[in-house]
Amino acid sequence: MQYVSTRDKNIKVSAVEAIQYGLAKNGGLFVPEVFPTIDMEFIKSLIQLPYAERAAKVMDMFIEEFSYEQILGFCKEAYSTERFDTVDVAPVKTISDNTHYLELWHGPTAAFKDMALQMLPHLLTKSIKARGEDREVCILVATSGDTGKAALEGFRDIDGTKIYVFYPVDGVSDVQKLQMTSQKGNNVGVCGVVGNFDDAQTGVKKIFSDPDMTKKLNEKGYFFSSANSINWGRLLPQIAYYISAYCDLVKINNIKMGDEITFCVPTGNFGNILAGYYAKKMGLPIKRLICASNENNVLTDFINTGVYDKNRKFYTTASPSMDILISSNLERLIFELSGCDDVRVKKYMDELFSVGKYKVDEDILNKIQEFFVAGYCSDKETKETINKVWNEDHYLIDTHTAVAAKVTNDVRTKNNCNCNVVIVSTASPYKFCDNVLEALGEKTDASGVELIARLEEATKVAPPKPLAELKNAVPRFNQKAEKTDMPKVVLEFLGIL
Ligand SMILES: *Cc1c(COP(=O)(O)O)cnc(C)c1O
Repeated sequence: MQYVSTRDKNIKVSAVEAIQYGLAKNGGLFVPEVFPTIDMEFIKSLIQLPYAERAAKVMDMFIEEFSYEQILGFCKEAYSTERFDTVDVAPVKTISDNTHYLELWHGPTAAFKDMALQMLPHLLTKSIKARGEDREVCILVATSGDTGKAALEGFRDIDGTKIYVFYPVDGVSDVQKLQMTSQKGNNVGVCGVVGNFDDAQTGVKKIFSDPDMTKKLNEKGYFFSSANSINWGRLLPQIAYYISAYCDLVKINNIKMGDEITFCVPTGNFGNILAGYYAKKMGLPIKRLICASNENNVLTDFINTGVYDKNRKFYTTASPSMDILISSNLERLIFELSGCDDVRVKKYMDELFSVGKYKVDEDILNKIQEFFVAGYCSDKETKETINKVWNEDHYLIDTHTAVAAKVTNDVRTKNNCNCNVVIVSTASPYKFCDNVLEALGEKTDASGVELIARLEEATKVAPPKPLAELKNAVPRFNQKAEKTDMPKVVLEFLGIL
């Protein structure tokens, strides 16, 4: 199967190349030239299988260079019970006849990024090998919290890789910081950057594009790569859980094979929800995708008007992993809905880069609105929703999931419909204890790690083991650097300086 760049269809690469490069040379993103299709027989054949096999069957359709047995091997490792705290991996919790939560946070870092970042290291290292590359890969990550930890866990002690993560010293929660600074593994490094997330990200991008750095690494047998969410190797594993959720609803007789369901996805960079769209494109019976945002509602406006405008106030919210004004993966959706029109996509993206704004043509907007619905909610509504869901359904959700729960309710009220919705649950409530406790009317006057015990006391819901164990965690990495020193820090980490 071939992959093309969203900004130039003449750029064609294989799956392993798409995964190794991450980004196309002209700045475009790689997408499958043709999507494989699934039918009801295929879905039926997955119903009795464990998650790793479901995921392998789906992923196998997109990668020619690896055999099914190889991919199954990756999946069995990535989604093993050593790494996930439930054999179901991505269980569906049914709250009522027509409301379900797809829990994607049972992995080692308690956020949905584990679903992809447990898999990416296998795909990336084997892709590199398949291409005859004998240098070691050095993954650099700038993180606002969840991605850094998930990438560290995914790449920890993976042969042929080194991983280094920069986080903004004052931009992550206590829990997130300790999760990263206490990271285990012999190939990992973590450093705080004096500044905000943008400073860290700009610093990493500079390192990537610095020819002198590339040369120094090359001489020592290393090359850089990234683990960010525009890499095809991160999107692909996410398609599987939409299909798996459908299987689970058939299995419990909630729906009949062929019935349509709706998913509501708390959205930031548009990776998760795009995977849902790809599942639909392959043939999964999805009626609608609801795109839920927090106060950074650039996507709500886009889906409702066709105008994408990032020139707006940036809000720091209770759902920080969705505090994003440039949703990179949206480019892939526009490519599909424009009829694979690379010229138009390039024009829009150039406009986004130069003036921070673009408007899609009527034909694209119509297609978006045929399938997508969008809404957003405030921090106050997020907390009210956590409280309501806890009190009415006795189900504890985090702030990101609560945004989706609220928007689901709004869409139901507005359309006066009670359609069957799967709310995609992206993080454990224990990752955001302060806001969740506040929502429940509890006191929050303690450090982040102490609040874990308090939330457990208040709710009697057990925290994920890796978070509960944080109270005994000892920081290994106390390094702090000015952003201008980031290249030096990386060279020291690799033993080049
Ligand atoms: C990253 C993240 C999101 C947003 O997902 P996208 O794929 O970027 O849209 C939502 N919730 C949580 C908890 C996350 O970590």
